[in-house]
Amino acid sequence: MFEVIIGLEVHAQLNTNSKLWCSCATSFGHEPNTNVCPVCLGLPGALPVINKEAVHKAIEFGTAVNAKINKKSIFNRKNYFYPDLPTGYQISQFEVAVVGEGELVIDFEDGTSKTIGITRAHLENDAGKSSHSGDHSRVDLNRAGTPLLEIVSEPDMRSAEEAILYLKKLHSIVRYIDISDANMQEGSFRCDVNVSIRPKGDDKLYTRCEIKNMNSFKFIERAIKYEVQRQIEAWEDGVYEREVVQETRLFDVDSGETRSMRGKEDAADYRYFPDPDLLPLIITDEMIEKYSDIPELPDEKKNRFVKEYGLTEYNAGVICATKEMANFFEEMMATGISGKNASSWLTVELQGRFTEGQDVTNSPVSAEKLGTLVKAIEAGDISGKAGKQVLDYLMENDVTVDSVIEKLGLKQVSDDGAIQSMIDEILANNEDKVAEYKAGKEKMFAFFVGQVMKASKGSANPQVVNKLLKEKLA
Ligand SMILES: [Zn+2]
Repeated sequence: MFEVIIGLEVHAQLNTNSKLWCSCATSFGHEPNTNVCPVCLGLPGALPVINKEAVHKAIEFGTAVNAKINKKSIFNRKNYFYPDLPTGYQISQFEVAVVGEGELVIDFEDGTSKTIGITRAHLENDAGKSSHSGDHSRVDLNRAGTPLLEIVSEPDMRSAEEAILYLKKLHSIVRYIDISDANMQEGSFRCDVNVSIRPKGDDKLYTRCEIKNMNSFKFIERAIKYEVQRQIEAWEDGVYEREVVQETRLFDVDSGETRSMRGKEDAADYRYFPDPDLLPLIITDEMIEKYSDIPELPDEKKNRFVKEYGLTEYNAGVICATKEMANFFEEMMATGISGKNASSWLTVELQGRFTEGQDVTNSPVSAEKLGTLVKAIEAGDISGKAGKQVLDYLMENDVTVDSVIEKLGLKQVSDDGAIQSMIDEILANNEDKVAEYKAGKEKMFAFFVGQVMKASKGSANPQVVNKLLKEKLA
């Protein structure tokens, strides 16, 4: 039996306005090579200056994962050649990173949890982007110099499932504290996975392979599973030393396999040395105090939702997984409805009606409108079943809740007086059946309920009918 060892390196692109070493814009989707200057083009004599907004965001992240903030860290040149890296080196941090050791808690479905160590998080700049077509290659340097926070975990994860839980929690945290838009499709949150195996009980670490640059939870999970299987088979076939070597591998989405890209460099290969153009990064106590004041984190919000709104741990976890979902829920709560109803109408009814590409950020039914609908149900104005019809209508039409209830004729009669007089009339017309009921034929009760509902053409609130009938027949 084997044990799987996984460590993750995540690159989160910080959502600063300008790049890490110059004042060029970081915004996405511009004409190629328009957001560039002598610094990010690596022209001779141009000098980098640290973007303080990026430093503040690094401190905020450190606070969120309960990490040590290093008051003095330095920037190093990491030398390597990429066609889209005009300086010929990346400015990164090597000996000391701005964020030191921290931790992140992952929660399993069965209610248990596990703490994953964070080794460090350091600031570095991104490279540009190359694209290849036919015998031409193009380079766009708009991205060159955008700030990244590289978040390195301890090799604490033991399965693909744990790795994905870690990534999802990390993704949620960086979005909650708003240091990155973490848009995975645009590559603002991407991950390198280090995988190795060892016989259970062995505490030595064996050769690890790195699977590079993945930006989809689904593919990361598949890549890990494939790689684990490949290493186990190599071990069992007696070819482990030959087949599993320290290298960088790529995950091929089409074949579902990982394949060798290049031998993995050691730190020495990069010829790290302190960047002579940059002073050490000094973080003062005042900065730590100011930037450690961060918004409510996903776990804190979850605990508050359990306490304040009476949600189950599980439902609170589902709702707090993204900031947008949690905000939507709280806007619904502002209409004065119960947490349990808000939760089920959001996660079951509304989400169940979303079509491809719809989510709470572009929902055709706003939080306030859905809250109003739930409130109408709680007040007995309409039945829960009618509420579903109203929601169906609202998904297609931008109108008010009241106008739909009116239009579809779904309003329930909950007025005691009106229902009372219907009951009186029905009981008076069915004296024989009343006598049967009073003689012990209890199933006659359903007959009376049916008659009242029929007389009201289905609009009477069944709870009120039941209550009043019981009183009357008692
Ligand atoms: Zn620039």
